[in-house]
Amino acid sequence: MKAAAFGYHAPEGAAEAVSLLAGLGEDAKPIAGGQSLVPMLALRLAMPEHLVDLRRADDLRGVERRNGDLWIGAMTSQAAIEGSAAVARDVPLLARATPLIGHFQIRNRGTLGGSLSHGDAAAEYPAVALALGARFEVLSPRGRRTVAAADFFTGVYETDLAEDEILTGAAFPVRRDRSGFAVEEFARRRGDFAIAGAAVAVELDPGGRVARCGIGLFGLGSTPLRAAADTFDALGARPWAERAHRELRASGETRRSVAFGIDQLTPQELQVARLVAQGLSNREIGERLFLSPRTIGSHLYRIYPKAGVGSRTELATVIVGSDPD
Ligand SMILES: Cc1cc2nc3c(=O)[nH]c(=O)nc-3n(C[C@H](O)[C@H](O)[C@H](O)COP(=O)(O)OP(=O)(O)OC[C@H]3O[C@@H](n4cnc5c(N)ncnc54)[C@H](O)[C@@H]3O)c2cc1C
Repeated sequence: MKAAAFGYHAPEGAAEAVSLLAGLGEDAKPIAGGQSLVPMLALRLAMPEHLVDLRRADDLRGVERRNGDLWIGAMTSQAAIEGSAAVARDVPLLARATPLIGHFQIRNRGTLGGSLSHGDAAAEYPAVALALGARFEVLSPRGRRTVAAADFFTGVYETDLAEDEILTGAAFPVRRDRSGFAVEEFARRRGDFAIAGAAVAVELDPGGRVARCGIGLFGLGSTPLRAAADTFDALGARPWAERAHRELRASGETRRSVAFGIDQLTPQELQVARLVAQGLSNREIGERLFLSPRTIGSHLYRIYPKAGVGSRTELATVIVGSDPD
């Protein structure tokens, strides 16, 4: 299948990008390295009317010390992070996690900001950001704001970003003395998304006690924090589990992640799936349900794995097969 037609815009900087996004409205989407978005366009999971390409925005690229942290621009490629001496020295966990992302061809184009904004619960970078307590910089026509990693990932492929906001960069705390880091993952083949993984950052106080321990799990739940809570529950690690649940409640999450099957869809997801089965486009479904085409795309991104399908045609088959009449 080919992507639906879209308008293409290539702003020269971050400010121009957000003003374009605001002007074009909910039918516009930023594109960074395209390693996640282009497959979504090809499968018509996303059908934006306009793409705002961030590639020419040099102010979104770079690795530098800012206010004691290591700031990395959103458009910095994963390959540049992998090759950066500053990242290896100051944020070793990020340096160690990067080679685990896909293959070098993907890392050549894929970006830090794209990976964080995509919010894939199986991706390495969100888990690393959570383990390290990174802070994200967000820009919109209303100005700049900062969001803690723990508040940014709100669900499967869902983040705290509004439609007219872009991620401009992330500030990672620079490693301190007496700290240690590890990232481990299990994948079927080298370069595949991890089936499960963990990123851990530990810092000791002068007395040798643990002063801070950050854990980000990936591939294990709807968000890295959700995954941590579920794992601590399973391990019976009560103090950690309670803390993770407290943080989840504070971030507004109340629903637990679900198993596979059409019966696992929420009523609204089922409604969307039925309209897909009738052959309607994201725009037409959005018009019926008073939702933006982008929201329908996000619903579909959740519906496919829940229903165990990989295309609109397969979804239609499953829906028709499950309908009693
Ligand atoms: C075969 C294959 C294997 C892969 N394996 C892995 C893996 O093991 N681990 C892993 O983590 N990833 C993996 N990926 C995904 C890859 O890391 C992507 O690079 C990454 O998820 C998205 O980055 P991108 O720059 O390509 O973003 P894009 O695909 O361009 O964009 C992704 C999403 O983020 C939004 N977006 C992008 N930049 C911004 C921004 N600055 N502000 C706001 N929104 C933005 C876009 O609108 C889109 O919704 C794999 C991809 C492929 C094709």
